[in-house]
Amino acid sequence: MHSLIKLLSIDFDGTLVSRVSEPVLDIQCMELIRRLQNAGALWAINTGRSVDLLESGLADFGFPFRPDFILTTERDVFRRGGNRDTWEPFGDWNERCARDHAELFSSANSVLAEVVDFVSQKTKARLIYDAERLEGLVAENDEEMRRIVEFIERARAMHPNLDYQRNTVYLRFCHADYHKGAALAELARLLEVPRENIFASGDHHNDISMLDGKVAAMPSCPANAIQEVQDAVRDAGGYVAKKEYGAGVHEALLHFANGLR
Ligand SMILES: [Mg+2]
Repeated sequence: MHSLIKLLSIDFDGTLVSRVSEPVLDIQCMELIRRLQNAGALWAINTGRSVDLLESGLADFGFPFRPDFILTTERDVFRRGGNRDTWEPFGDWNERCARDHAELFSSANSVLAEVVDFVSQKTKARLIYDAERLEGLVAENDEEMRRIVEFIERARAMHPNLDYQRNTVYLRFCHADYHKGAALAELARLLEVPRENIFASGDHHNDISMLDGKVAAMPSCPANAIQEVQDAVRDAGGYVAKKEYGAGVHEALLHFANGLR
């Protein structure tokens, strides 16, 4: 099999797996990923999940084989460890990322305090802490998330390095330089895979940074992707699938792996 695709960056929830419909996992999609891997392509899952939550997802949904790389919490880059069932940081990216975030969270303290006040007084959203540090929040619904994001946008005007990743009712604070697109760019740099050979697929706000055409020349989304994602993919000359979830990823892979036998 010969195809342009050398690196796949695929979101997990809502893209590769469906939590709301059957099948959870599209067998044809997984088979095609397997064939691409056998032909030399590398497969990365690019997710908002932590390493542990992704591992339980891979187990719970019965993944038939493992990805080559995992990009977790919308920022960290891992490759397989010596023992193939473990993950190790790839390069020094995760270290730099952790340092930049530690600096960010101490310098943006007052902005975050404003957000905490707003969220606890004006919404029913739940704040999430990692030890003492505010990590993010979970809104009750999309409408509440819209109001919270509006507030954060105003509050962060004085601190543009403070950004956030939004995925359905989940929000995670982050440094503006770190997102799925940046993590993918670092992985591609380490692997020396050019933009032209990168396929990416995702369904929500936090995926847009890898679907705007800057990092991956083959961006795509399944039909269940939110409108903003579909627009970003179209604007980047990518492929918006007619099918949902894994079946949509399969459709997009076939589209880009044109001429694949
Ligand atoms: Mg998703």
